[in-house]
Amino acid sequence: MKTLLFDIDGTLLLSNHSGTHALNAVLSEVFGIETPCLDVVFCGRTDASLLPEVLQRNGVSTTEQNLQKLRDAYTDCLPHALHVHGGTVLPGVAELLPRLAARNDLRCYVMTGNLQQTATQKLQHFGLLKYFQGIFGGDHDTDRRQLAQRTATSLRKKHEHEPQGETIVIGDTPADIHCGLEINATVVAVCTGQFERPALELAGAHQIHDDFSNSETLYQWLVK
Ligand SMILES: [Mg+2]
Repeated sequence: MKTLLFDIDGTLLLSNHSGTHALNAVLSEVFGIETPCLDVVFCGRTDASLLPEVLQRNGVSTTEQNLQKLRDAYTDCLPHALHVHGGTVLPGVAELLPRLAARNDLRCYVMTGNLQQTATQKLQHFGLLKYFQGIFGGDHDTDRRQLAQRTATSLRKKHEHEPQGETIVIGDTPADIHCGLEINATVVAVCTGQFERPALELAGAHQIHDDFSNSETLYQWLVK
């Protein structure tokens, strides 16, 4: 059985930097930082690597206690930030996901650098949560390739009595592509995030789309 692993930000949706707004609020309201600094590269990262850097940049020591406080406050603040800042489901996604989820010859999961809980909040906010059998989040792995290995191991365990088949990773960053290649997946890249075609080509994507607005073609290819 085929397994599809979708990234979230820049692939399925854009949240108008709701995550950054939520972290900004947490740093100022929970950690008392007057002028929070979020001059951190976000895309393609896992939150396990990103959140300690956010603390460091703001002069907060990266103890497990502070990290837990940051994760808890971030997940508390994100729904409000999503509500205020909104965002959009990217072209074709709302047509593609229900058709894929309705099939019984493939599995749709999310593999994302977001914490599992914030990933759930984002998908829920945009009405996409129901299309996925589960979420593999970036809670534990500082490198996306480790996340891919962990995901592949979990999936093998979870579906050990079913044929494994092909895995397809769908994402918008070179990091998504590298993590797909790490687990010998086929990688579909899309230019709706912060990277353009040459960067995604260079990273080794097997197929690149400007966006998913031609969802029929992509659907037929994914299910063939
Ligand atoms: Mg992304």
